Amino acid sequence: MHKDYLSREEIARLQEKRFRETVERIFKRSPYYQKKLKEHGIKPVDIRGLADIHLLPFTSKNDLRGQYPFGMAAVSLKKILRLHASSGTTGKPIVSGYTRRDLSVWADAVSRICQMAGVTREDIAQISFGYGLFTGGFGLHYGLEKLGAMVVPFSSGNTERQLSLMQDFHTTVLVSTPSFALYMAEQARELGYDPASFHLRLGLFGGEPCSDLMRQEIEKEWGLKATLNYGLTEVMGPGIAGECSERNGMHLLEDYFYAEIIDPKTGERLPDGEKGELVLTPLTKEAFPVLRYRTGDITRLIDSPCPCGRTGRRMDYITGRSDDMVIVKGVNIFPSQVEEVLSTFPEVSPHYRLVLIRQKGFIKDLEVQVELTPQGFSDSFRELEQLEEKIRSRLRSTLSLGPKVKLMEPKSLERTTGKSRRIVEVEKGELE
Ligand code: ADP
Ligand code: ZN
Repeated sequence: MHKDYLSREEIARLQEKRFRETVERIFKRSPYYQKKLKEHGIKPVDIRGLADIHLLPFTSKNDLRGQYPFGMAAVSLKKILRLHASSGTTGKPIVSGYTRRDLSVWADAVSRICQMAGVTREDIAQISFGYGLFTGGFGLHYGLEKLGAMVVPFSSGNTERQLSLMQDFHTTVLVSTPSFALYMAEQARELGYDPASFHLRLGLFGGEPCSDLMRQEIEKEWGLKATLNYGLTEVMGPGIAGECSERNGMHLLEDYFYAEIIDPKTGERLPDGEKGELVLTPLTKEAFPVLRYRTGDITRLIDSPCPCGRTGRRMDYITGRSDDMVIVKGVNIFPSQVEEVLSTFPEVSPHYRLVLIRQKGFIKDLEVQVELTPQGFSDSFRELEQLEEKIRSRLRSTLSLGPKVKLMEPKSLERTTGKSRRIVEVEKGELE
């Protein structure tokens, strides 16, 4: 039976079995967890099954950083065939290793995610994720190959060449971050192409949040169907969850990953359906196993049946990562909240950033810089001023804080070939 269609009971049984094997393996082979669990007074007999998982301590990004580079290994280094590292969006990179079996699980997981999204063996897929330490490129590569699609391993950068090959090859699937898909469309226009004249029919996007506005814009520009998928290096890489064609959340591959949602402040486990921090325990990982990894990503689990018939529960779209949250004048703000407000204004584009203005080591103020669309751009100073004020006032009522708003000319904010940086810090006085 295909793993995406197991009954809930079968999934639960498989999870139970694999969790027990994981715990046994960890107690036997992981020096890091042997020590950590001992410190917490936990013995193998205490963890009889998933019902006892709450007794295990969480593992955090900092724990992993402290084990740099190979402290998390639970197999001899001879058995590790590949290393990757997180892209370091929020600090020092984290290393992840893979045994032969880990690599085969990974390819299987990603191929299922791609199939869910609608990729078939007829497709020609261009991978515009970076190839290298970042898990995106190689992760999608082996998954798509396993599925049987034709892979164009372009990697990131060199947009002009990407576009010309996409056109020559009649590429049908684009794999990238949502930011890059948007940027490529912009570049295509600049170079005189009409993006809709390409043969792209499907997009597989991941690695960073994608707002509805961004998704619509990408779809409109390329004339493709955009699907999102989710993953992180510490747990494996891409291939943890992905959208089916219904696009109502991302199906988790629950035969490989056990998911919990906790209150990020207290660490308490939250009831099903509530929003909180996603905690993942991979159930088959051999090389660098982790228990109850705190992803920092805020979401909720959806367990209503999906019309596609797949039985893996879905995770909702990520509204922010806990380390993306900024505190300005005592108010907690996620970039996604700002984005939501901005998306209600047709005059502005999905390109924006939050500039934190620091003074003597403290964050004093927030400036939201947002790019106008070419249509939203106006020569009338008064009109622009009024728009600025409208945005500011809507932000004020959503955030309980009225940040400065600065409208920027179309195409003036920095573009990226990887993940966007939505938050920047400057010293007071550095802003012109
Ligand atoms: P880094 O932490 O350096 O960005 P990774 O490359 O491993 O390292 O990225 C994993 C993170 O990327 C996730 O924890 C999550 O915050 C973000 N991410 C990945 N996929 C998505 C997605 N579909 N939606 C929102 N965020 C995502
Ligand atoms: Zn579905």
